[in-house]
Amino acid sequence: MKLDTLLYLLLFAIIALAIGLPSYLNKAGRVKAPAAQGSFPTVTAYDLFFNIDLAQQLFQSRQTISLVNSNAGRKEITFLIHPDLVIDKISFTDAQGSSLAITGWSFGQPVAYTRLSGTVTLNTAIVQFTKAISPRQVLTMQLEYHLKPGGFQNGVGRDFYGLFVSAQNQRAIGFDSGAFPVIESNGAAPLKITITVPDSELCGIPGQLVSSETSHGFITSTYQATRPYDPAFSCAAYKKEPGSLNGIGVEFYLTADQTYRAGMGAAALDYFKLYRQLFGDPGLGIFRFVYVPIELEGGGAESKGNTVYLSKQNNVDVFSNFDTDTNLKNKFMALVGHEEFHEWNAYYSSWSGDLAQWWTEGGANFMSAWAGEMLWGAAYGRALRAQY
Ligand SMILES: [Zn+2]
Repeated sequence: MKLDTLLYLLLFAIIALAIGLPSYLNKAGRVKAPAAQGSFPTVTAYDLFFNIDLAQQLFQSRQTISLVNSNAGRKEITFLIHPDLVIDKISFTDAQGSSLAITGWSFGQPVAYTRLSGTVTLNTAIVQFTKAISPRQVLTMQLEYHLKPGGFQNGVGRDFYGLFVSAQNQRAIGFDSGAFPVIESNGAAPLKITITVPDSELCGIPGQLVSSETSHGFITSTYQATRPYDPAFSCAAYKKEPGSLNGIGVEFYLTADQTYRAGMGAAALDYFKLYRQLFGDPGLGIFRFVYVPIELEGGGAESKGNTVYLSKQNNVDVFSNFDTDTNLKNKFMALVGHEEFHEWNAYYSSWSGDLAQWWTEGGANFMSAWAGEMLWGAAYGRALRAQY
């Protein structure tokens, strides 16, 4: 990038910060949950397995979660978890891999937990150790659970973020969905997620595809991110467009009634290449848009690093009208440019508080329009800015 471009960018960024950028995308972003009360350690890595077979009413998970204790002198660790999950096993090891003795664990008072989609009730699990845990002590938690028979749903549901399991869609979007132990106010960490589903389904998972194999009617896929992302997945009978790609590319996970338009992928890829060129290689060559089948007025979108989850209602008409309706196309482009920029402004830099969140969202709006102008000219940039 030339120096004068950088200076203009900085100037515009300062002006944007000063005057504020109203956002029609105010639901689009990255959730930062309120800090929960209790003895919450810090998550340093996730290694998560899910085994899903709706024909057998099976939804089970085995999770290895690396932690650093942040409370001195306590004998317990507290976490929150979805009330429909039956815990089959909890155990802990230290940094050397030796078992840590626990006297037991129990459920405390359920708590009201507020995320973007509203307030839900989560269970509090309290694990009691024989000895106090040292400050900064490294721990690894092994957690196994399964969904109780009454926890299986019908159709597509209405809560974009929560744990949802039905024959049409299985999803948990974010650490505070209740499918992962809610351990602190910001659960992003390097992650590895492996999911087995019937091979009629595909799962949209953050990170880079490490392996995928099909066996006896099931497909097992592993994704990995070495940077801190929120754990998330959405599995359904998706079609992946534009299909398998090598190197740098963009993938759309669409439902049967959504028609992929080549211009969508081309625009998303142009944004991705420009951001990579200007702001650095994120180390993940694929950017992914995963449409979540859901009945939800007004839509929703959530960045999980290189993977963005969008409610189908977000762009419900664009799949049939992308090439003919300029207003719809511009809204879609503005959204794509906004969400892709979060890979750079929400996951490379630490932030906290309302102003930082506003800057993360306003900054992504600004960059989306600016990048649109760089790619497609001044008139296009003006049209995109008018979308916010
Ligand atoms: Zn956003």
